[in-house]
Amino acid sequence: STNTDYLLAIEDLTVSFDGFKAVSDLNFYVDHKELRVVIGPNGAGKTTLLDLICGKTKATSGSIKFKGQELTKLPEHRIVWAGVGRKFQTPSIYDALTVWENLEVSYPQGKHVLGALFFKRTAEVKRKIEEVAESIFLTDLLDTEAGLLSHGQKQWLEIGMLLIQDPELLMLDEPVAGMSVREREQTAELLNRIAKGRSVIVIEHDMKFVEAIAHKVTVLHQGKILAEGDMKTVQNDPRVIEVYLGH
Ligand code: ADP
Repeated sequence: STNTDYLLAIEDLTVSFDGFKAVSDLNFYVDHKELRVVIGPNGAGKTTLLDLICGKTKATSGSIKFKGQELTKLPEHRIVWAGVGRKFQTPSIYDALTVWENLEVSYPQGKHVLGALFFKRTAEVKRKIEEVAESIFLTDLLDTEAGLLSHGQKQWLEIGMLLIQDPELLMLDEPVAGMSVREREQTAELLNRIAKGRSVIVIEHDMKFVEAIAHKVTVLHQGKILAEGDMKTVQNDPRVIEVYLGH
């Protein structure tokens, strides 16, 4: 078996900011249809890791292979085309547009300007919007202005705006922050369903939520992997306990 078997294979990845290594010689592998949760204290390098994968931050050295394709030299939009979707903490939905319209404008319009010119609301687009709306619990709110949605519903809509682009890897930064208990349960259900067909990387602090979704947990500390494995193994790891209690 080689590293090309993984959907995502990161090797010796380092990024330095003025000599400070926020991510340091990191090796990180994600399987197809895996739901990985990345945890770690503030400043561990979690957000920087996702920024590196989606191309928002460029690596100082090392390799990020996605389906065998090297991402480190690609601009952000090419990484999106390759099949990587990233949701940031702040929703970037269009408040004045309806749920339907938000999903429609997110539908991939082709990689070329001509694709956008010939873009039409085809039966295929309609079917896809309906399918995504149902998965994010917003079928009954398709005609509602996005600005009127609850905080949790806005987060789901944003996940839907990524899903409509059919990414093979979805990355989410604290997706349940500010959500109600019920919304957290629904989000766990949504992510578990997404991971039946795609891989997901989630940064999360809420351990109850981590337990409900994680196939595998990676603990980052000072830009390096401190521990990795199933939730139980990681939770009982003395080095992990030390880092969390030490804070
Ligand atoms: P986490 O998400 O685990 O809280 P971050 O990835 O946000 O951690 O940050 C890791 C470290 O890298 C922090 O010490 C942070 O201050 C530093 N850092 C992140 N981005 C930059 C940047 N653009 N310039 C300088 N330092 C940065």
